Amino acid sequence: MTITEENYLKTIYKLAEAEPGQDVSTNRIAAALATRAASVTDMLRRLAEKELLAYEKYRGVRLTPEGQRLALLTIRKHRLWEVFLVQQLGFNWDEVHEVAEELEHVQSPLLMQRLDAFLNFPTLDPHGDPIPAEDGAMRRPAHRLLADLPVGGRGTLAAVRDTSAPFLQYLDKVGLPLGAQVQVLSRVPFDNSLELCINADATVLISAEVGRNLFLATE
Ligand SMILES: [Zn+2]
Repeated sequence: MTITEENYLKTIYKLAEAEPGQDVSTNRIAAALATRAASVTDMLRRLAEKELLAYEKYRGVRLTPEGQRLALLTIRKHRLWEVFLVQQLGFNWDEVHEVAEELEHVQSPLLMQRLDAFLNFPTLDPHGDPIPAEDGAMRRPAHRLLADLPVGGRGTLAAVRDTSAPFLQYLDKVGLPLGAQVQVLSRVPFDNSLELCINADATVLISAEVGRNLFLATE
């Protein structure tokens, strides 16, 4: 497997996860990887020849069980490295994604087994995303979008949908780390922005867009 092939499988897996049950179109893959549809088509043919995905010209693609297994393996490596960077090397959560994009392609099952054990078998990455097990099993916890909570609703900030550095830096700035206790105090009818109470202490106003990118664990 080349790095490009691994990135294709991972991207297709994530696009399929975002819209379950649907084939992933060439155009969506091209947009996600910022490359031309023609080069995507070439690579999809190659991966289909290796039986890692099923490709129909006008319908899109679907990963085979083996393609899915390899995609989850790359995702597992990525997320374990992110935990390592934050917990052991003192990286902030907005600094780890780009580095992990490179580390995820290191080919050493033994290294990953030892890293996993060294970190004491974590199940979540620093953004609250689940880490697939070695056999590809992955349990996504049942979370609710903050934007969907009624006024008075509360929960613990458990994961972020947007993992881009600017968004994570914004959360740092307003004091919304994972683990924060959040309660919706009011909703502004004009634009659906939300007034929140954080840790029964500070009050902060967030936009509806921010609310659509935060997941809460609720009772
Ligand atoms: Zn990442």
